[in-house]
Amino acid sequence: MEFLIPSRTARPADDPIFALNAEAQARKKSGEPVINATVGALLDDDGKLAVIGAVVEALRSVPPEVGAAYAPIAGPPAFLQGVIDDLLAGRPEASFATAVATPGGSGALRHAITTFLEPQQMLLTTGFYWSPYKTLADEADRTLATFRMFDEKGRLDIADFERKLAGVLDAQGRALVFLNTPCHNPTGYSLDETDWNGVVDVVGRAAGRGPITVLIDVAYGRYAKEKLGETFAPALRLADKAMVLFAWSASKSFTQYGLRVGALVALCPDAGERTRVQNALAYASRGTWSNCNAAGMNAIARVLADPDLRARVDQERAAWKDLLDRRVERWNALATAAGLGYPRYDGGFFTTVFCEDAPRAAARLREEGIFVVPVQGALRVGLCSVPERDIERLVDGLRRATNP
Ligand code: PLP
Repeated sequence: MEFLIPSRTARPADDPIFALNAEAQARKKSGEPVINATVGALLDDDGKLAVIGAVVEALRSVPPEVGAAYAPIAGPPAFLQGVIDDLLAGRPEASFATAVATPGGSGALRHAITTFLEPQQMLLTTGFYWSPYKTLADEADRTLATFRMFDEKGRLDIADFERKLAGVLDAQGRALVFLNTPCHNPTGYSLDETDWNGVVDVVGRAAGRGPITVLIDVAYGRYAKEKLGETFAPALRLADKAMVLFAWSASKSFTQYGLRVGALVALCPDAGERTRVQNALAYASRGTWSNCNAAGMNAIARVLADPDLRARVDQERAAWKDLLDRRVERWNALATAAGLGYPRYDGGFFTTVFCEDAPRAAARLREEGIFVVPVQGALRVGLCSVPERDIERLVDGLRRATNP
């Protein structure tokens, strides 16, 4: 007798990235000189998790009775205001933003999918995407469609975006678009002003055909060349044409992956709509995880609001970002010289090397102790977990594996 409902009987056993990472770690432990570029967290050159000490201090100083209590379902107001200011301080959009707390950015993505798409409808994103986008859609009985991410010049393929968006609107009368930028996972690409202008034009032209929601996933926003608020500034012109959402996460920004602190922020110029969106999101929270991590939100709210604490956090993060930027610089020098094909990469945790038979190339690299993640048509390389000294061997391995 099968107890599982039919749609749940063939779920894969493990997240493939976690499985690869586990093998890499086991082989390293047994003494092999392994390069593990599968990890989605920033590690120092000794393989230890990069942690911002001032955030840990803030966590330790949360009063026990605050950490132990239930947080408000929508999230503590000080935390939500801190997140809105973090994204939009000094901009008029801050006055019509609303937010709800979520367990990490993942929770924000989940709420967006179930609140802005009907069951069975499709979410639209770039052809390269973080694979949990599909898992989140699947789990919520929605599907995922993609547009080609890069055109011949290596820029965001605006023409294909326009085609696919029109197709989605024709098929289901509404659209939800996920754009992960800056420092897109897995490609490392950041939309620039030209890309954003293209997106704004396309959405503006399509807006009359049905409601369009554009979610900007800023999970890696603190590792870009520009300041967080500058990375999406041109997209704010979308606010009167579309519903603009931000998936905000403390995981990478505050190096607190396990804390599960995040938020979904929505820009709603109309007050009535803002209330309806706020209610729908808070209701969704009550109907899923109830409330989020009280101690985590309290600590992050303090970090966001206290100028001295925030300055210390920013300073520590800047040092970690420098470490990553040095790896990116070394990568760009060596990978360009080796003729590897990869998108514009100015910073962030990952890049991808284009490659026809990615599973085969990844398997070959794995044999020589280099672990990367095969994705559709490319290999994801997490420089966030590769010491600068190993980049030469990594590039050399990739060159051989992708040009057999
Ligand atoms: N979005 C992208 C593209 C990510 O890579 C991640 C984490 O790896 C997230 C969102 C959300 O992470 P979390 O739920 O830990 O905040």
